[in-house]
Amino acid sequence: MTQKDIINNCPLCGSRPSAVLTREIRGGLSRRVYHCGKCDLGILENGTRAEAEKFYKKAYREQHSHKVNAGAATKELFDAYLPFQGDRLKLLRPYFGKSKTLIEVGCSSGMFLYHAKKEVGKVIGVDYDAGSAAYAAKVCGCKTYGTDITKTPIPKGSADIVCAFQTLEHVNDPVSFLKTLGAYAKPGGIVAIEVPNLYDALRSLYDLPNYHTFYFHDAHPWYFSGKSLTKAMKKAGFVGTLHYLQDYNVLNHLHWADVDAPKQGGVAQLAAPRLPLRAGASKASRTDVTNLLQKFDADYKRLLSKHRLTSNLFFVGKKTR
Ligand SMILES: [Zn+2]
Repeated sequence: MTQKDIINNCPLCGSRPSAVLTREIRGGLSRRVYHCGKCDLGILENGTRAEAEKFYKKAYREQHSHKVNAGAATKELFDAYLPFQGDRLKLLRPYFGKSKTLIEVGCSSGMFLYHAKKEVGKVIGVDYDAGSAAYAAKVCGCKTYGTDITKTPIPKGSADIVCAFQTLEHVNDPVSFLKTLGAYAKPGGIVAIEVPNLYDALRSLYDLPNYHTFYFHDAHPWYFSGKSLTKAMKKAGFVGTLHYLQDYNVLNHLHWADVDAPKQGGVAQLAAPRLPLRAGASKASRTDVTNLLQKFDADYKRLLSKHRLTSNLFFVGKKTR
């Protein structure tokens, strides 16, 4: 098999999918995303990158960060995402403990490690972006490495928990990446993975042509569903539990549903929705409308989870070999 043959084949079953999910991706780029119907995986045309590490060290930040000053962007990312680690922490808390070691691969500026460190004996961060890894080490007071995990001195079989959030969809070979994570876990250890969901409601429940192309991204060679993520985990030697997590709130979704365009306000929309209430309005009316909206948001997120239409998938896998 030549590199060219490998590129558009399904990394889970090896078949060459012909079904096409889209011919255009974010930024108006003409790229196809194929769909393996057998595995339920989206595959970006020519999406794999032979020199992934080199790419992420430079090009990714240049192409996808809106900040020219990478140092400022690192702190900004940390501050922006620090408050929104609750779902991850809640799902992993049963495995935490003061005698435990946790490794996060793709740790970015350390927004998850910052919280995890308070509940776990030892945390270690790894990220291709050396600047982000250095920032994470400083703010979390832990060891980090700005390189591929296989190039670090971290001993294999040494971690109770290895996690990678919003990372698997970027890697060249998802099953081999998962096997590598597993190699750093102890026997019976946990590997936790979070990825965007192919069936995100904004793409699959609502008919929003702009969101549909916005969803597919040239930095994401793979688009996992619950089925394909479970299959990838199983192939890499993990059994476990799949969770459906919704990040953006209901006001963000209603905005997209209304105008099929991104809503201003960025990551603040990961928080519970807030209304611009007049200070002079009665306290009872402000409380009632706030409670109504927050109940709606919670009910909406439960509905998305029930129908498997959330923004993210979260798999907690136990090492079986
Ligand atoms: Zn397949």
